[in-house]
Amino acid sequence: MPAASPPRYSDVQIAARQAALRALTSGQGLAAAARAAIDTAETFLARIIDAVDLHEQIAAIQCAAGCYHCCHQMVGITSAELALAREAVDALPEPQRGATRARIKDMAERGRGLDQAGWWQARLRCALLDEEGRCLIHAARPLPCRAMNSYSAETCRRSHAGERLQIPMLAAQHRIHGHAQLGLAQALAESGEDTMVVGLGTAL
Ligand code: SF4
Repeated sequence: MPAASPPRYSDVQIAARQAALRALTSGQGLAAAARAAIDTAETFLARIIDAVDLHEQIAAIQCAAGCYHCCHQMVGITSAELALAREAVDALPEPQRGATRARIKDMAERGRGLDQAGWWQARLRCALLDEEGRCLIHAARPLPCRAMNSYSAETCRRSHAGERLQIPMLAAQHRIHGHAQLGLAQALAESGEDTMVVGLGTAL
């Protein structure tokens, strides 16, 4: 029997759109639509890893809890991912929730008016990182955060320190989550929802 052909990136976009649309038209809401698109992306990534045998590449990715250099970028998210992130912040226990909301307020004030380059230049740390540099909403993090990956934590560290470097990464992981976000945005548009992509740091 011939091996199954690997899914194409356009398939991810179509499937994410369909999954998000199902959530929206059945009245489950924005956060559920984001979750549907995220689950679709993660399923496709797992399929591609198997289909073209990316297991070694996945094992070589150095991203780990507590490594947070990339969490100083402006993260562009849809209204659905914003709803999911807010839900996750609301579910944090106190006093963590109060402290996180205070950081969110501070980040929004310091980031107001900055474009992507300015945000990175200011090295604004995501308010959703805890003191140890771990994402407080890891299970609900937006698609661009899931797209980020690196074969070299040292390159990320040097980039964060100000060197202009290309981060070596698994392109498939980056593209899959990007296409899933496009599919999610399409579903939002077709459902009459806000399609504007906003910065996580100032929108929360
Ligand atoms: S949401 Fe989480 S993963 Fe994304 S930038 Fe913030 S801390 Fe990092």
